[in-house]
Amino acid sequence: MQKSTRQPAARAKTSVAKAATAQKAPAKVKTNAKTKVVGKAIKPKTAKLKPGQPKPWTKAEVHEAFSRFRKANPEPKGELEHLNPYTLLVAVVLSAQATDAGVNKATRALFPIADTPQKMIDLGEETVRDYIKTIGLYRTKAKNVIALSEKLIRDFGGVVPRTRAELESLPGAGRKTANVVLNMAFGEHTMAVDTHVFRVGNRTGLAPGKTVLDVELELERVIPAEFMLHAHHWLILHGRYTCLARKPRCEVCLINDLCRWPEKTVA
Ligand code: SF4
Repeated sequence: MQKSTRQPAARAKTSVAKAATAQKAPAKVKTNAKTKVVGKAIKPKTAKLKPGQPKPWTKAEVHEAFSRFRKANPEPKGELEHLNPYTLLVAVVLSAQATDAGVNKATRALFPIADTPQKMIDLGEETVRDYIKTIGLYRTKAKNVIALSEKLIRDFGGVVPRTRAELESLPGAGRKTANVVLNMAFGEHTMAVDTHVFRVGNRTGLAPGKTVLDVELELERVIPAEFMLHAHHWLILHGRYTCLARKPRCEVCLINDLCRWPEKTVA
């Protein structure tokens, strides 16, 4: 994992409304298709390329791709609305197998009255369940939200812990939750891999991997530290608004000249 530089982070989002205006891919982007980016290939994990496997990206190409993401969107934001690290943690737990928009719809009413573990416990599981009943798996999630709030109070003084092991010990929280919280609340250089990041990593050839963990570790390996604070959001937004699952918008893609996908719709 990349070493943390503890840069200032979105530690306490002050406004739900601000988060709601999270950045989307620009409607029109200038591609750099004519700029030939060359350089030494990043050493692949395995010595030999399998037949049909695209050539690994070079360091210069990776740097170029993330420079373009940074230029287009210097301060990318996550789209899960939250008020502080605790509500971020709860939002991420609620977002498993649900969309950010669906979670936001439910938490807009919940978070203003329950923005600390104690307030959530005071509300009670049944009431929490009512607030989040539009989200899939809401019964289990309500149970987890109460249980994680109790554990935060019992074991961590009511404060969201800052280590992966401690975060993963919370009910309902797994590796992805820990990665998102470490990155967004504490500025750690973690890479949370969701469905969008997994697709972009594989499709572009930037970080091919069979599992979410493979892609996460490969992205951490190839992305320069200077981009790691925001890399997770750039890749999510790229997958969500440009490199769409069914109909990727290759013609307006910022990195279409670098992408290794044989089926991309631009040369
Ligand atoms: S060129 Fe197409 S497939 Fe490749 S990253 Fe861009 S949108 Fe995705």
